[in-house]
Amino acid sequence: MRSTMQDAQLTIREITRHGTTVHRDSEVVTATEDGTRSLSYGELGVRVAQLAGALRGLGVEGDQRVATFMWNNAEHLTAYLAVPSMGAVLHTLNIRLPADQLVYIANHAEDKVVLVDASLVGLLVPHLAAMETVEHVVVAGPEAAGADLAPLQGQGAEVHRYDELLDAQPETFDWPEIDERDAAAMCYTSGTTGNPKGVVYSHRSAYLHSMAIWSGTVAALDAHSRVLPIVPQFHANAWGLVYAALMSGASLCMPDRWLQAEPLCRFMAASRATVSGAVPTVWNDVLGHLERHPEQKPESLGLILCGGSAVPLALQQALWRKHGIEVRQAWGMTETSPVASAGRPPLGVEEGTDEAWRYRGTQGRLLCGVEGRIVGDDGSVLADDGDAVGELEVRGPWVTAEYYRSDDPQAAEKFHDGWLRTGDVGKLDALGYITLTDRSKDVIKSGGEWISSVDLENALMAHDDVVEAAVVAIPDEKWDERPLATVVVREGADVTVEQLREFLAADFAKWQLPDAWAFVDQVPRTSVGKFDKKVIRKQYAAGEVELQ
Ligand code: ADP
Repeated sequence: MRSTMQDAQLTIREITRHGTTVHRDSEVVTATEDGTRSLSYGELGVRVAQLAGALRGLGVEGDQRVATFMWNNAEHLTAYLAVPSMGAVLHTLNIRLPADQLVYIANHAEDKVVLVDASLVGLLVPHLAAMETVEHVVVAGPEAAGADLAPLQGQGAEVHRYDELLDAQPETFDWPEIDERDAAAMCYTSGTTGNPKGVVYSHRSAYLHSMAIWSGTVAALDAHSRVLPIVPQFHANAWGLVYAALMSGASLCMPDRWLQAEPLCRFMAASRATVSGAVPTVWNDVLGHLERHPEQKPESLGLILCGGSAVPLALQQALWRKHGIEVRQAWGMTETSPVASAGRPPLGVEEGTDEAWRYRGTQGRLLCGVEGRIVGDDGSVLADDGDAVGELEVRGPWVTAEYYRSDDPQAAEKFHDGWLRTGDVGKLDALGYITLTDRSKDVIKSGGEWISSVDLENALMAHDDVVEAAVVAIPDEKWDERPLATVVVREGADVTVEQLREFLAADFAKWQLPDAWAFVDQVPRTSVGKFDKKVIRKQYAAGEVELQ
C-alpha cells in the first residue's frame, strides 16, 4: 500500500523559505573590525532573492557551479541559500588550500562564478587566470564599495561589486521546482594523497542532515538559540550549522575573518552566542586566552560542538569546570555531510562521574540516519562490543556513495559493499558509541602492535604544563615504527621529558611510551586547523625536528 502523504520535496529552497518568513525576526550578526553588523532573516530573504536574480542575470542556468571564496559572514550565508535554491550548485572553496589544489578543484568543478570577500581579493588574484571556466567574479562585503578591483581585471573574468549587482534586482525571484535528489552543494576533501576528491550533497541529504544537527542530540537549537559557526563555511559546510539555524529559527553569529581568541571572545560576548562549533585547536586557544583574561568570558555561551579531530578530555574538563561550558564531541567527514555521530553519555550514567567523562571522550553516538560497523583487515565485519578494533565503515542518506568525476584509481577503494570506508580506526559499542584510536594513515605500528597516537596525545594534554601534543610514527630499524611526541609546553613551565614519560607511565605500558621527544612552538596545522601529522613526519625525515 502506498502512503496517503503529500510528496513534498526536501530542498534548501524550503529551508530558506521557512527561515526567512516564519523566522523573519531572527537575525544574522557579522563581526566587523570594531563591532558588528546585522540583518534580520526577513531582510536576508530579500537579499537571497536578489542574489539569485543577479546570478541569473550573469547567465547562471541549470546546475552550473557558483563558487565562494569567503569567510563566515552574511554574504556567504546569502550564497548558501540563494545558489542551491535557484537550482545551481554551491561550491565552497577553501581559502587556505595550496594554489595547485585550489586551481584544480575550481577547474574540476567547472565553477562559472566566484563570489569573493573584498578582504580576500589579494589571495584570489594569483589564481584567477588559471581558473579556466570562471566567467564572473563578484566582490562582496562592506569593503567592496571602496575596494581596488584593478588586480582582478584582465584575467579572463568580468568583475562586479556584490551590492551594486544586488541593488539593481527585484526583491522577489521566480524559484524553480527542484528535485530533492539533485545536487545542491559540493565540497572537496583536502586530498592528503593525490588530488582532492569532490563530494556532492543533494538537497535531500542537506535537509536530513540539518534536521539531525538542530536536534537535542547535536546542537539542540530553537529560535532562542544564537549559533556561532567558527568552523568555516568552506570546511564541510560549517558542519550543517547554517541550514540547521534557518530550520530552527536560531540566529547566526558570523565571525568573518576575526578568528583569533581575543576578537572571538569579544564577538561571542557582543553577539550573545549560545552555541558554537570549532575544531579543538580553536578552543585550546580560547581557553588559554580566558586563563589570562577571565573577565572576557562569554557569559551566554553554554554549548560547544567540537570535532574534526579527537577532542582532548583535558580540554573538555577545563571548559566545563572553569567556565561552565559543555563540550559535545562529534565525529564526521566531508564525505558524511559531515556529522555522523555526537552526543552525551547514555542513560544511567551520571554526569560528572569518571564513567560519564569516559563517554565524553568517545566520538559520540551514531545519529539516526547513519549506520556504522567495524571491519577487520580481511574485510570481515567485527563485533560492536566496544572491544574489537578495525576500520570504521558507515552508510546512510547523508553519506556519499562515490566521488564526483574522480580520476583517482584509488577512489573506488574508499567504498565497500555500499559502505564508506572512513579510514578511521577504532571500535564501536552496542549503544552505538564510536571510539577512534587513530586515522589509518597515522597508526603507529611498533613490533607488530598498534600504539594509539590519539590516546597518547590525550594523556599528554592532560598534563598541566602541556598546551598541545601531537604524536606521530617515525621509522625504526628494530620495531619498524616508534612514536615521536612533539609537545608545546606552557609558557614559563620547565617540564622535562623524563617527567612527561613518568606522567604517561601511569596509563601506558613501557613499550607504548614515546622514545623520541621534541619541544616545539606550535604543532603544524592543516588548512582546516587540525594537527598536520604529515608535515611533522616530513620535518622529521628532513632532519628538521630538534629532538630533546
Ligand atoms: P580532512 O581532515 O581529511 O581534511 P575532513 O575534514 O573530512 O577532512 O576530516 C575527516 C576526518 O577528521 C575523519 O575521518 C577523522 O579522521 C577526523 N575526525 C573528525 N572528527 C573527529 C573526532 N571527533 N575525533 C577524531 N577524529 C575526528
